[in-house]
Amino acid sequence: MTIRTRFAPSPTGFLHIGGARTALFSWAYARKHHGQFILRIEDTDVARSTPEAVQAILDGMHWLGLDYDEGPFYQMQRMPRYREVIQQMLEQGHAYYCYASKEELEALRESQMQQGLKPRYDGRWRPEAGKQLPNAPQDVPPVIRFKNPQTGFVEWNDLVKGSIRISNEELDDLIIARADGTPTYNFCVVVDDYDMKISHVIRGDDHVNNTPRQINMLRALGAPVPKYAHLSMILGDDGQKLSKRHGAVSVMQYHEDGYLPEAVLNYLARLGWSHGDDEIFDMQQFCSWFDLDHITPSAAQFNTEKLNWLNAHYIKQADLSGLADDIAVRLEQLGIQNVSHETLTQQIALYRERTQTLQELANSLVYFYQTPEPAQDQLEKHLTDDIKPVLSNLIELLKTSEWTADAVHHVIDKIVQDNGLKFPKVAMPLRVILTGSAQSPSINEVMYILGREVVLKRLQQFF
Ligand code: GLU
Repeated sequence: MTIRTRFAPSPTGFLHIGGARTALFSWAYARKHHGQFILRIEDTDVARSTPEAVQAILDGMHWLGLDYDEGPFYQMQRMPRYREVIQQMLEQGHAYYCYASKEELEALRESQMQQGLKPRYDGRWRPEAGKQLPNAPQDVPPVIRFKNPQTGFVEWNDLVKGSIRISNEELDDLIIARADGTPTYNFCVVVDDYDMKISHVIRGDDHVNNTPRQINMLRALGAPVPKYAHLSMILGDDGQKLSKRHGAVSVMQYHEDGYLPEAVLNYLARLGWSHGDDEIFDMQQFCSWFDLDHITPSAAQFNTEKLNWLNAHYIKQADLSGLADDIAVRLEQLGIQNVSHETLTQQIALYRERTQTLQELANSLVYFYQTPEPAQDQLEKHLTDDIKPVLSNLIELLKTSEWTADAVHHVIDKIVQDNGLKFPKVAMPLRVILTGSAQSPSINEVMYILGREVVLKRLQQFF
């Protein structure tokens, strides 16, 4: 059997982190089995779908490197096909016209509620052998309903949740086409999964309730029923349902905030799936390990700290030149233009061990380009009267010393020794003045990259 999976987002907002995980798992399952992964845009909710949201999905998939073999297919472009299948279902007796008006249905609903019953369509227009249907009213455009089986069960072995069994008595006759002829959501999914020969439907468990209806329709069409794997939801750091409140939930927001796609993918892979204790792995490894058996049916909890830890790991490993390209763009957004690629590479090499995101990395490099303004309390603490003459001497020596990181280190070291001081006593005021912060990588390296001219200029301001 060829494995064919799909990701079928509705373009009503950005690609959020839960959607990206669904896409990742579907993609990985197809890749693992050398099958096909299909992208389908479920854009039939015209009021809520937007071209920007479609673009956000495509951008997110592209950024993560989740490549698809077929699609994107757009449901709005498949209307003739849905109409054809609706016609076929009418002809084969699997669907029927229902003329019940809104008011009638509302009255039905109310009386059911009053009797303490679950509101459901009562089948008044459902044709049955020997049943006399009312005369079709002229002024009510009909909807079309699926003739759901009335007895028995729908049962499937969910590859994440285990066996699920729903009684057909709980399912009423679903509307598959509205009065204006447009097909409804569950119906389009069924036709698409059938036409696209989907073997495994991997999706969020907010769709579990749709599955028995979809299975019944597939059966009516004589279509094979795919396997289903419903992924449990993702909770925020605080255990609440993941939402905008939790900050960056859009995939592209992670990009903006300075996460590497490798880190986000690696993180998402472990969100509800495990391979022993393995935490760090690339997508090739993931695709070879991935299976549906090791997906946990319980909700996964988002852990920003862990994502940051992974991001730090991938930043340390990343190709320096590629990082420089990214950081150059971020610096530009901070108003710093025309940076030298080579110098930037040196700066990044100095900082990437101590940073969790690319944005943080870019921010920490700003002082190389703009004279920092050290905080007054830091100056008072570190630029003390007793150290000033020592620094004056240092300035003199730096004017003529050789300019390599090592040479600068020797000069500082000599001053420290000559004055019987501890290294930080000299290094700290240098840090504060040159970088604007009391924390920096080795100060001699910083000075070397800043260059003699800038170093002297910044120091001399204070003398
Ligand atoms: N369009 C649905 C959504 O975005 C997914 C439907 C499905 O995977 O079957 O939630």
